[in-house]
Amino acid sequence: MAYKFVDNYREKGARKQLVELLKSRGIQDKEVLRAIGKVPRHYFFDETFWGQAYKDIAFPIGQGQTISQPYTVAYQTELLQIKPGNKVLEIGTGSGYQACILLELGADLYTVERQERLYERTRKVLPHMGYRPHFFLGDGSLGIPQHAPFDKIIVTAGAPFVPELMLKQLRIGGVLVIPVGNEKEQKMVTVIRAGENEYDKIELDTFRFVPLLGDQAW
Ligand code: SAH
Repeated sequence: MAYKFVDNYREKGARKQLVELLKSRGIQDKEVLRAIGKVPRHYFFDETFWGQAYKDIAFPIGQGQTISQPYTVAYQTELLQIKPGNKVLEIGTGSGYQACILLELGADLYTVERQERLYERTRKVLPHMGYRPHFFLGDGSLGIPQHAPFDKIIVTAGAPFVPELMLKQLRIGGVLVIPVGNEKEQKMVTVIRAGENEYDKIELDTFRFVPLLGDQAW
């Protein structure tokens, strides 16, 4: 696909409307809405499909993967409660859109992708948009032990269970947001590490993600 980094009035307008739509769907966090209003989502699409970029839908990005629906990105990001300087691990870099939203909120971001072609593509393209996370290629279901602990961990693919190794990589007081369920649908789960061996788990709404594949996954 050909990237074109031009942000015209038409795309800016569509982005404002997307923010209004997300508000009407229940997203309240002002910082999250600001980030969605800032990151040019059409940069992740071929120009042919710019008309799709600000609809509240997931979209194929190649290698059988998708750029998550804006509502889902906003929902997960809101749950994370990112504070500037938070050390954040994202599992499933994909297109890099979610990564840009986290960086807009001031995260020090570590992002891992298991598909080499997606990893290569996103690692090349994001810096051209001005976004610079630390990129990793590998099985994110294991976390990234050498860079732990993290303040926040976000999993952007559907998991069969909450991987124990991930919990251990949370700082005390840290938050994990992960969709857990079967291949068809998953419940959004947040786990707060309340103490050394104390975790508070909450189950929320239902979503549909591509599967988290790996050692501690499908
Ligand atoms: N955050 C992405 C969503 C991409 S879809 C975005 O904003 O576009 C989920 C991604 O998770 C896919 O790219 C898939 O290849 C990746 N993935 C699945 N299992 C993984 C694993 N074990 N480790 C790292 N990435 C994984």
